[in-house]
Amino acid sequence: MNKELNKGQSRHKAVCLSVLRSIIRASVFFFFILFVFVAPSPGSDKTEVSNISYSTSQGYTRVIVDLSRPLEFTSKRLSNPDRLYFDLRNARIAKEIQNKLPVGDGILKSVRAGQYDPDTVRIVLDLETMEDFSAFILDDPAKLVIDVSAMKRERISPARRVLVLDPGHGGHDPGAIGRKGLQEKDVVLDIALRVKEILSKEPNLEIILTRDRDIFIPLPDRSLVALQSNADLFVSIHVNASPNRSARGIETYLQNWTNEEEAIRVAARENYVSVKRMREKMAQYKNDDLGKILTDLNRDYKRDESIALANYVQHALCSDVAKVNKRTANLGVKSAMFFVLMGANMPPSILAEVSFISNPDEEEFLANESYRSVIAHSIATGIRTYFSSSTSPQRVASLNDASEMQHERTAVTSRYFQQ
Ligand SMILES: [Zn+2]
Repeated sequence: MNKELNKGQSRHKAVCLSVLRSIIRASVFFFFILFVFVAPSPGSDKTEVSNISYSTSQGYTRVIVDLSRPLEFTSKRLSNPDRLYFDLRNARIAKEIQNKLPVGDGILKSVRAGQYDPDTVRIVLDLETMEDFSAFILDDPAKLVIDVSAMKRERISPARRVLVLDPGHGGHDPGAIGRKGLQEKDVVLDIALRVKEILSKEPNLEIILTRDRDIFIPLPDRSLVALQSNADLFVSIHVNASPNRSARGIETYLQNWTNEEEAIRVAARENYVSVKRMREKMAQYKNDDLGKILTDLNRDYKRDESIALANYVQHALCSDVAKVNKRTANLGVKSAMFFVLMGANMPPSILAEVSFISNPDEEEFLANESYRSVIAHSIATGIRTYFSSSTSPQRVASLNDASEMQHERTAVTSRYFQQ
C-alpha cells in the first residue's frame, strides 16, 4: 500500500518534474525567440547610410545617398576650401562605403563621408564651382538627394527647345487602379506617347519621354532626365483617384507649398507616402532648412513660367474634355510638393491629373482611345500655347502681380477660365 502510495507519489513527482522541465524548456525557447526577434540589435535604432553615388551633366551634379529609412539633416557651406556639408542625424555609415568618392566634373572635386560622431554621419561635397544647391529626402526608397548646379538656367531659346514628358508609374507600380481594373500606368503612357506624336511635327522641339514602355522609373531618375537634357519644360502626366467614387474632373499642379487637404492627399499618393507623412514633410518644408526648396521656387522665373504652363494646359484640357465628358469638372490649378518635380535647376514643371480613374464614368472614358486622344491633344495645345507666348515678357509680368501664391492661383485661374 505504502509502496503503492510511494510508487504513486514518485510517479506523481516524475510527472511534476516532467511538466516543470517542459515549462522551463518552453520558457527558455520563449525568451530565446523574444531575444532574437524583439531585442534590438546594436545600432538598429540608427539609419544606415548604405551607398553614395552621383550623376553629372552639363552644369549640374546630383549626389544620391541611399538610406535605410528617412532621416533629418542639416547643411552648411564652408569656405577655404569651398565645401558643402550635410550632417545626417541619428545615422551610422555602412562599413563598405569608401570614405572618398572622386568626382572631378568641374562642379564637385569629390564627395567624402564618415561617422562624424556616434550619432551623426557627415557628408562633405568638395566644391570646384557652385551657383546653387538643393537637398531633399525621398521616403520610399529612402534617399537624400543633393543637387548642385554650377550655372543659372538660360531662359528659353526659341532655336531649340526640349520637352520632357513623364508618364507616371510603370512596371511593378500600376499607380491608381479603377474599379474595372484599368491601371493608371497604362493610361498615362498611352497619353504621353500620343502627345509626343502630336508635337513631333513642331519645328525645333525635341521631346524626351522618361519612359516609353511599361517599366518602373524611380522618382529622382525622372527629374534627372530633365536636368541632364537641360530641358525647357517638364510635364508629368497622371490620373487621379479618390476614396470618394463620385470625385471627378481635371486638375493641374505646380510645385509649391500647400495646406489644402486634397492637394496633400494627391501629393502623398504620387510620392508613395502616407497622408500623415506628407503632412509632416509639408511642415518641414515650411519650417526648416528644406524651406530652401521653396525659396528656390519663388526666387526665379520658374514659378511664373510653371503657373503659365499649368494654366494653359488646364484650360486646354478642361475646354476640350468638356465636349466629350459633359460632367467633367474644372478643379483648377493647384500647388503641392511632388518628389518628381524636385531638384535644383528644374525647368518650369507641372503635374497634370487628367481625370479620376476611381470614378466609374471617368474610368470608362479613360479606357476609350478617343478620349485619351482628346486629352493628348489638349496637353499638346497647352504646351504649344506656352511656347508660342513665352517670348512675351508682359504675360509673365501680369502673372506676377499678386504676391501670395493662393491669390495668384485664384486670379490666374479665373482669368483663364471665366472667359
Ligand atoms: Zn499617379
